[in-house]
Amino acid sequence: MIPAFTATNGPAPGRVRENHIIAPYITAWSAEQQIPSRVVERPGHGVGYGDELVGDRDARGVLWQRPALRHGVGKPEFGRVHPLRQRRAMRKLLCQVCAGPADRNDDGVLWLLRDYRGDWPDWPDGMACTEPPVCVRCVVLSLRLCPALRRGAAAFRVRRFEVAGVRGTLYRKGVSGPVAVEGSNFAYDDPDTRWVVASALVRELRGCTVVPLTELAEQHDAAPRR
Ligand SMILES: [Zn+2]
Repeated sequence: MIPAFTATNGPAPGRVRENHIIAPYITAWSAEQQIPSRVVERPGHGVGYGDELVGDRDARGVLWQRPALRHGVGKPEFGRVHPLRQRRAMRKLLCQVCAGPADRNDDGVLWLLRDYRGDWPDWPDGMACTEPPVCVRCVVLSLRLCPALRRGAAAFRVRRFEVAGVRGTLYRKGVSGPVAVEGSNFAYDDPDTRWVVASALVRELRGCTVVPLTELAEQHDAAPRR
C-alpha cells in the first residue's frame, strides 16, 4: 500500500538514489515481467510448470509465479508487487519499503494498512494480510511525502502473525490442460493449494493495537539519527 513518492534527501528506501523516484522494495520493475511458462497438470498432485525447476516452489511445496528478477532495471511499476520479494519480506518480517528489519516492540510488529476499520468491529484482527510490515522510518517518510496517506492509512502493532497460506490463482482440469478459474487466498493445508500458482505469502494478523500516526512521527524524531 506504500505509494509512489519522491524524496529530495534522507536515506533511500528500496532501490533508489537521492532525488530519484523511490520504489519500495516489493514494487516490481518494468524489466521484471512474467517468464512465459506453461502450467501443466501433475497427475495425482495438482499443477506444475512444463519446465519446472526446484526454485519454482516454496518450502511447503506450493508453486509460485515466475517473474524475472531484475530489481532496479527499467521503471518501477507502482501498484505491481514482485511476488518473490513480497514473499521474502513477509517471511522474514522485513520492511516492505527499505527491506530492513520491520519495527518491533513489546506490543508487536508494525504494520501500515489501508484504513478499513469500518469493515468489522476489531478490524484488522483476523485479517489475511499480504502487505509485509514496515519500519518506523519508512512510515514517517511515507506520511511526510504523501499527506493523503494520513487520511487513508492506519498503523497497528501486531502480536501474532502466523503464516497462513498464499494468495494465488486456482487452476482446474481443462480439456487441453489446467485452466485458471479464480484468484483467492488459500491455506497451506487446503487441498486446493496444490492447484494454485501463488503470487503472495499471507499472514493472519491477530492481537492488533492501533498506533496513532503522530506517535510514530514522535518516535522517529526522538530516535538518534542514523
Ligand atoms: Zn523501512
